[in-house]
Amino acid sequence: MLYSDKILRTPSSFIRNILKVASAEDVISFAGGLPNPISFPIDGLQKAINEAIEVHGPKLFQYSTTEGYLPLRQYIADKYNTNFGLAIEPEDILITTGSQQALELISQVLVNKGEGIIVEEPGYLGALQAFSLTEPTFYPVQLTEEGLNVEQLAQTLYENPCIKFIYTVPNFHNPTGITYTRENREAIYEVVKKFDVVLIEDDPYGDLRWNGEKLPYIGAGRLENSVILGSFSKIVTPGFRIGYMITKNKELLNHVNTAKQATDLHTNIFSQIVIHDYLVKNDLTTHITKITDLYQQQARSMIQAMEKYFPPTITYTKPDGGMFIWVTLEEGVSALELFNKAMEAKVAFVPGDPFYTNKSNVNTLRLNYTNSSPEVIEEGIKRLGKILYEIPSK
Ligand code: PMP
Repeated sequence: MLYSDKILRTPSSFIRNILKVASAEDVISFAGGLPNPISFPIDGLQKAINEAIEVHGPKLFQYSTTEGYLPLRQYIADKYNTNFGLAIEPEDILITTGSQQALELISQVLVNKGEGIIVEEPGYLGALQAFSLTEPTFYPVQLTEEGLNVEQLAQTLYENPCIKFIYTVPNFHNPTGITYTRENREAIYEVVKKFDVVLIEDDPYGDLRWNGEKLPYIGAGRLENSVILGSFSKIVTPGFRIGYMITKNKELLNHVNTAKQATDLHTNIFSQIVIHDYLVKNDLTTHITKITDLYQQQARSMIQAMEKYFPPTITYTKPDGGMFIWVTLEEGVSALELFNKAMEAKVAFVPGDPFYTNKSNVNTLRLNYTNSSPEVIEEGIKRLGKILYEIPSK
């Protein structure tokens, strides 16, 4: 056998295959997960690039440190301390090649083959892929409208001492769009503090809130093994690949630093310096408001269209931010079958299947609204609604 077991067991991106079919010009696609290009502050970045070259010269083009550009780590620490009353220092931060890299590195550092990872059900496909490389055992814990099913979380932890970490996306979750409630966060904290496990709060969408109040992290500032992952992908640019990991656990951060060194030495320093220069010279809050105003309008259009065109038996989440809506069809209806019919009608979405570690032919699906105008959203949902009315209920 030529290839390793671990690569053969890692799911290849189902979404990528879907996107291939969905990207035909005449297809209305709710399948992707791309930020709207309005979120790229191209003029500001262009200025920052020119100035950075003038100011920093060769430093921009040289090798750099694994932990990342200190002023950028300071900026990130200040942002979290101001917004969440935390006491993060630059030493608690590692800049990563997108937060995606942090997912991969953390699992490399913590998990031996066969050991356990708690994931949300459904969960972020990219994390499931990244974790698969360490050949873990997945323990899915059900996600409800309020957040994680806390009883199931507690039972899973009690019964499986091999569990190394818990992976959560508490704000505007991918794929469901839900946000863990304050009560749910508190209840998770009460459970997790009793166990020697790492709690990851992956938060690339947290800034994209247009409704309701910002909620505190579950573990940051009070759980020893708390990790926050953040990213500039959804608020500045994903192309620069700038993400970060924050933890007060020095030992964990050191090990992840070593793993990163082995993987890519350091994150692209050109991107780090340019993004930092952009951040200090521009008003990020105003920029983010521009993004959330658009996403709110798009989400509202999608929800209004679903109210109008979908059979009343179909339920869906109503996000307060982020990029996704999660639809639950009638019991027994396959989202994959619906996908095939929808493609005939030239409208695409992602069937729920790849977001589960142990389920197939599910009756759930993900819709993304960030790249279509309200008119196109209405037309796409109308087409889906027509198909949904034609599917015989079981
Ligand atoms: N976590 C979640 C929940 C995501 O949705 C994404 C992007 N799709 C990532 C992490 C990775 O983001 P990046 O590597 O661009 O920071």
